[in-house]
Amino acid sequence: MQFDSRIEAVAVCRTPYKQKFGIPRQPGLVDFVRGYVELVPPYNHIDAVRGLEQYSHLWLLFCFHENLAQGWKTTVRPPRLGGNEKLGVFATRSTFRPNGIGQSVVKLHAVQQQKGKVVLEISGMDLLDGTPIIDIKPYIPFSDAIPDAVGGIAQQAPEQVNVSFTAAADAQIANISAQYPGLKQLIIAVLAQDPRPAYKKAKDDPKRYQVALYDLDIFWYATPSGIEVVELQPAP
Ligand code: SAM
Repeated sequence: MQFDSRIEAVAVCRTPYKQKFGIPRQPGLVDFVRGYVELVPPYNHIDAVRGLEQYSHLWLLFCFHENLAQGWKTTVRPPRLGGNEKLGVFATRSTFRPNGIGQSVVKLHAVQQQKGKVVLEISGMDLLDGTPIIDIKPYIPFSDAIPDAVGGIAQQAPEQVNVSFTAAADAQIANISAQYPGLKQLIIAVLAQDPRPAYKKAKDDPKRYQVALYDLDIFWYATPSGIEVVELQPAP
């Protein structure tokens, strides 16, 4: 069914997550990391967010812009099911969906006006840096929070794994700690989610993995006891 729609970005989200792999799979899983929602013209007017500071949390509606070119599928294989079972796209939070729209609840810390820009400081987001935001709404607990809701295949947050560092990686982090405060904590929180696809977790996995945080590439291996970070490099 066609209808007359005009959807465009009202803001862009700035986050430390520079590539899709490694981003938490839902909001709140890495809850302390700060991000910024920068309103874009003609919406970057402080009046457009007047009153928003009264709320602790926001709904962000956004576009999975990096996946749009790949279209959508009727069924998908959720990572939680090990990639073996298919569910309908509308029964999942798949990023490959008609219209490519995602939604996340995030914590709101501040509404700021900086050099002519209106910026919302947030945390807990699961968004790629540069994600176009198509709407912003206050989270309303009496209606949006449903304590006895049933969560299907995702009733609980996924289990976390242990994250360790080689002495060399620890030394690298210590050397750049003034430039990147909280980096180690961020790496631990991101990798504790074990971003690998489920089928990789089921067997020995010798692959050297990489996640991109800020302008750094973080290299790591899966070990029998969790994940070990071995090296950091500036992103190319
Ligand atoms: N909470 C949202 C939802 O339910 O609609 C997103 C859930 S989705 C499973 C989260 C994943 O989307 C992240 O782990 C990341 O890999 C991916 N992602 C985040 N921002 C994206 C973007 N702009 N384009 C494509 N994929 C993105």
